[in-house]
Amino acid sequence: MKKIEHIGIAVKDIEASEKLYANLFQVQAYKRETVESQGVLTSFLRVGPNKIELLQATHEHSVIASFIEKRGEGFHHIAFAVTDIVSEMKRLKEEGFRLLNEEPTIGADNKLVCFVHPKSANGMLIELVQEKD
Ligand code: ZN
Repeated sequence: MKKIEHIGIAVKDIEASEKLYANLFQVQAYKRETVESQGVLTSFLRVGPNKIELLQATHEHSVIASFIEKRGEGFHHIAFAVTDIVSEMKRLKEEGFRLLNEEPTIGADNKLVCFVHPKSANGMLIELVQEKD
């Protein structure tokens, strides 16, 4: 894996959180995007070389809605950039990791993504991200 691509934070009110983090980091959120397949509205902030992704549920059955219900707002996942997501998924499966999807899906930013189940990663939700060409 190449580097941390972004850090995902689950929030209840994306507008309020954009203001809060804009204030905290002294940067502006630069993009909002809905990912229908995951039932989330995302918003991105860039802090130096790093990216923060705010995630708000778009409906009550969204994974973010159930996450917030169980654990409250806060740290949700860490995403790593990979060059070849398909071969990385294959490698992880062979190593015995549980993946949340069998095929890469389209995430925010028109990227290919896949999640590693927190149960196989010390409670961490790990996202793999590959740039689409
Ligand atoms: Zn993410």
